[in-house]
Amino acid sequence: MIDSHVHLNRQEFDGEIPAVMTRARAAGVTGFMNVGYDLASSHESIALAEAHPEIRATVGVHPHDAENLADPEGNITAAGREILAELEDLAARPEVVAIGEIGLDFFRDLSPRPAQYAALTAQLELANRVQLPVVFHIRDAWAETLAHLDSVGAPEKKGVLHAFSGDDAAVNWAHEHGFLLGIGGPVTYKKSHLPELVPLAGVEHILLETDAPWLPPVPHRGQRNESAYMEHTLNKVATLLELTPEEVARQTTASFARIFGAFAGTE
Ligand SMILES: [Zn+2]
Repeated sequence: MIDSHVHLNRQEFDGEIPAVMTRARAAGVTGFMNVGYDLASSHESIALAEAHPEIRATVGVHPHDAENLADPEGNITAAGREILAELEDLAARPEVVAIGEIGLDFFRDLSPRPAQYAALTAQLELANRVQLPVVFHIRDAWAETLAHLDSVGAPEKKGVLHAFSGDDAAVNWAHEHGFLLGIGGPVTYKKSHLPELVPLAGVEHILLETDAPWLPPVPHRGQRNESAYMEHTLNKVATLLELTPEEVARQTTASFARIFGAFAGTE
């Protein structure tokens, strides 16, 4: 399997990356997409991908940090233009397979909403210019994000709706537009609606992810998450879909390759 969303650059993994990767491999995880969320983490993702052939990188600015790209009225700032230009340079690197994580987050609202919209729009344009798919972060803003994509156009190279927490309308949107749903630890949580939505989505439309160090699956809640724990998510998804874990692993790996490119040796 591929861990399609991980943050191995975080200090929670300091000095432990080889051990974390070894445990992941033992649990069947053969590839990792390390997702950037600001300029520094985008650089760190590329450095990890340069050091490890099993890691690919994404570059982008998270909605929490949208104020680094745009002012509160939603105008891209001079500093923001410089960051966008640097992201565009980074996106040309061979290790970079997507733009992200980008989107709207109205749960935390850490950046003003007009700035979030402006940062999203600018990075969608960037994704189309460099012809890369997109990793979306959407929280408490599903209807708003999908309406925005309908108005400015969904990214041409498609992508994934990471940490999917939308409703059936969002599942239908993903089906219509050819996007994948990122399913992680929350599918194992008691209060989650994902167990009803995963069968509606279907195995060909989902990716497995951890979002480590965050969102650990049951029975690891309260601990630092890591890619090896993804087998709990895999098993839960397989039960929900009435498939074997091997079938889910094979299909999600193929879907990852279709959108983000294949890893040598994981086919
Ligand atoms: Zn993330």
